[in-house]
Amino acid sequence: MSAQCPFCKKEPDKITPFTNRDCSTIFCKRCGEFAITGSLLSSYADLEEKSHLFSGVLRWRKEGGLKSGEILTSHTIKEILQSTEIPQKIPEKIDRLIYYIGLNSPTFGASVSIKPDDDYSLTFSPSEDELHEILLFLERDRLIEPAMDFMGNVAAIETQLSYEEMVQCKFTMQGWKRFYELERKGVDSKQCFVAMNFDNEFDSAYQKISEAIEDCGFKAYRTKGFSIDDVNDLIIAGIKESAFVVADFTGQKPGVYFEAGFARGLGKKVIWTCREEEKDKLHFDTRQFNHILWKDVEELKSKLQTSIRANII
Ligand SMILES: [Zn+2]
Repeated sequence: MSAQCPFCKKEPDKITPFTNRDCSTIFCKRCGEFAITGSLLSSYADLEEKSHLFSGVLRWRKEGGLKSGEILTSHTIKEILQSTEIPQKIPEKIDRLIYYIGLNSPTFGASVSIKPDDDYSLTFSPSEDELHEILLFLERDRLIEPAMDFMGNVAAIETQLSYEEMVQCKFTMQGWKRFYELERKGVDSKQCFVAMNFDNEFDSAYQKISEAIEDCGFKAYRTKGFSIDDVNDLIIAGIKESAFVVADFTGQKPGVYFEAGFARGLGKKVIWTCREEEKDKLHFDTRQFNHILWKDVEELKSKLQTSIRANII
């Protein structure tokens, strides 16, 4: 096992080998905590130029509070590159940093420490230079301002970047507003959370729901198939990170009501659907919402596409 983190090349805080297979857990300041197979470590060189993207995805899984249940293999590592979690454009990277500052600001006026050398994974940047530029941009755009350092001094962010290892900054009111906006809409997300009955008889409905979502330029996400230990965290994080939610109430699962309510509480749009023959079973609290009623899965797909185009895009 190499003594380096394979993604950021930093020396990890700790490497714990598994006892029963060729696999280790790596604890890295930049990339968070992840498990990786020995065969991926030895074949990783082919993916080297994408390292900063893996580093960013893993770091954000940690920031989102997800436990690292998944073991990275030569197969799953390629799926990460298709992930909607990776920002495609510079404004999305900037939003990531705003989101991080907001998540780490417990009170108004609280200062947040950013250590460019450890934290450029937050903006999916290939090196700390881009993070420097983003910090300067946020200061110029009056979203952040310098906070006092440990000695009680206030220095401009540019000065802090030149002389210090760590930047101390805090949100302005503009910064807070932008953070709340991002929290509501899910950091430029292209993900759609699907809340529905997981019984196998509904797999064909899920198939059509995900086709409708993907035809409209989003990616469907559901938590079926994950281990039960991780599922609650995955639901909360999955909804927070989604642009909107599709909730199908066929089968009347309490979890679907919870997930739709949680999403509405975060200010996200919810598209309500239900098989027509069950419409009278809908709970009276939510019956007032306009539900897409469907007779078969093809009808579900086409009505859902129309609704996403009308209400989301
Ligand atoms: Zn790392």
